[in-house]
Amino acid sequence: MTEQKQLWLAAPGKIILREVPVPMPGRGELLIKVRASLTCGTDLKAYLRGHNLIPMPGPFGHEFSGTVAAAGRGVKKFREGDAVMAVHTAPCLKCPYCEKGLYNLCERIMETKVLGAFGQYVLLPEHIAAINTFKKPEGLSFEEAAFLEPLSCVVHGVGRLGLNVPAENRDARKKRKGPDETALIFGAGPIGLLHLILLRARGVRVAVCALEGSRLRLSQQLGAEAVFKPERLEGFFSRFAPPGADYVIECTGRKEVWESAPRYARRGGRIMLFGGLKKGSPVVFSSSRIHYDELALVASFHFCPEDVRQAYKLLAERRVNVSSLISGTCSLPRAESAFKKLAAGRGIKYVIKDGMQ
Ligand SMILES: [Zn+2]
Ligand SMILES: [Zn+2]
Repeated sequence: MTEQKQLWLAAPGKIILREVPVPMPGRGELLIKVRASLTCGTDLKAYLRGHNLIPMPGPFGHEFSGTVAAAGRGVKKFREGDAVMAVHTAPCLKCPYCEKGLYNLCERIMETKVLGAFGQYVLLPEHIAAINTFKKPEGLSFEEAAFLEPLSCVVHGVGRLGLNVPAENRDARKKRKGPDETALIFGAGPIGLLHLILLRARGVRVAVCALEGSRLRLSQQLGAEAVFKPERLEGFFSRFAPPGADYVIECTGRKEVWESAPRYARRGGRIMLFGGLKKGSPVVFSSSRIHYDELALVASFHFCPEDVRQAYKLLAERRVNVSSLISGTCSLPRAESAFKKLAAGRGIKYVIKDGMQ
């Protein structure tokens, strides 16, 4: 096969299906036949209003799993036919940030990323094939394996919260001494819900605040012990954690939520500002709470190879179950309907699949 079908974002609001050449893998590279890809909040933002990390017109889609269609010279870890899961970036290991171990902030990580998972094939460059590609365990579906990328982002964010529970305890809550750890998550889209799943797996008690009733119900199914619509959030203090939450996690990307998040943290609490705002948006916080109550404001961008390894382990060992975040499946030609549903607030993540499979 020399041609493949690939979805392109032609302009905001306009998705087209194009025929493009299937690339040939060079030295160290892997050509992957995509078996499942997932929609992501970044794709939705790009579809609705453009995104500076997704150039238009151009291919998009960056959460995927598949099988090795061809391996370039020098590839030892994988063979044709292997089922694999990967992320779409890897650090250069040479720049000043990589030298300091800040791999997620690598100067070249974004310019060497792979887009085009909403298509039949993706080509993984040598550094991604070597660092951030893994064999898919048999028991894990291709759809679940495609969660490696978003889960890696959330593993990185949770790492920056500095939880007081060890990562490796299978039942952290029982083994840990001391009071319960508590978190309040704003937003129950894919990223808010992945935080919920991961924090529950670590034994943290979680409350969720979101607008839509269906998302709050899903949050409860995933282990949230209290859920609130924004207008009822005052109830959080009396019902859930009287002094405020140990961790407040912003996953809405809304300025007013960024600004109100510190209000819900206990003294000494940590606030994770995960949801990105429009470039350059100013935000206002109460200085006295941050100063006298020693609140820590932390942000999270992307992930390091160690986060990807941890996310892989969590999925491979079935320590997190992500399948309830899948809202439906669309073929490539019908993928735009998934984005229309997401834009209307319907569903969490959609699987996009080559209709020929
Ligand atoms: Zn993503
Ligand atoms: Zn680098």
